[in-house]
Amino acid sequence: MKISKTLLFYLFLLLPTSLLAIDSFTTVLIDPGHGGIDNGGSSGRKAPHYLMEKELTLDIARRLANELRKMGFRVIMTRTDDRFVDLDERVRIANGLGKRAILVSIHCDSLSNRKLRGIKTYFWHANSYGLATRIQRSLVKMTGAKDLGVIRRRLRLTRNPTIPSVLCECGFMTNPFENKLLASPSYRQTLAIALAQGINEEKRLGDFGISPVPEIWAPLSRPTDAHRHVYHKKTKKRKQLKKIEALLGTKSFHS
Ligand SMILES: [Zn+2]
Repeated sequence: MKISKTLLFYLFLLLPTSLLAIDSFTTVLIDPGHGGIDNGGSSGRKAPHYLMEKELTLDIARRLANELRKMGFRVIMTRTDDRFVDLDERVRIANGLGKRAILVSIHCDSLSNRKLRGIKTYFWHANSYGLATRIQRSLVKMTGAKDLGVIRRRLRLTRNPTIPSVLCECGFMTNPFENKLLASPSYRQTLAIALAQGINEEKRLGDFGISPVPEIWAPLSRPTDAHRHVYHKKTKKRKQLKKIEALLGTKSFHS
């Protein structure tokens, strides 16, 4: 006898939630992108509202925390105020939470091309694809934003945590239309509700109905922050330049 996929799906929905939730997650680690000395991106002065990514991500994260707590989740945040938290520290917090947790990192985009707009969700591991898909679908459905899709990308926060991890880019601060939306508290509330509903759907249904993606092996992402890397390179260059200056007896304009 051949049972249709749709029938199986509806039978699945009839199962009591307590049965479905046995292996599901109970803790959500919310990661508001950037903070402290790291402002993240910004809208630039030409935009209708001057917005800083680190402030938007914290506001959306706080709203999301409220929504998730109402749904009964245990919520932890990597930062609750304007402070710098190293990416590796964020990964360390995620990896200390045990199996029944997920990580949702919140960001906003900024680009010099002000026409670009839309929402996208990044993931890396196969175990995060269902979560990324449900969150992305929910965000697009509730906001009506342009769907930039679910994208597989090896970022420190999608690759290095051992728990399912996704990173959401909730719109472009540099696009005049999305800039006005992101500046509005009610829109940020809508984003938070959409994120919470996507997360809750993944808890209820797991990856059921989500097409599988293969696991791709890759080494851990670089364990130092990019800006430090650049700093070291610059310092090295400056030292080399000073050596040359000392040899030639000249002084550079770049000191
Ligand atoms: Zn960011």
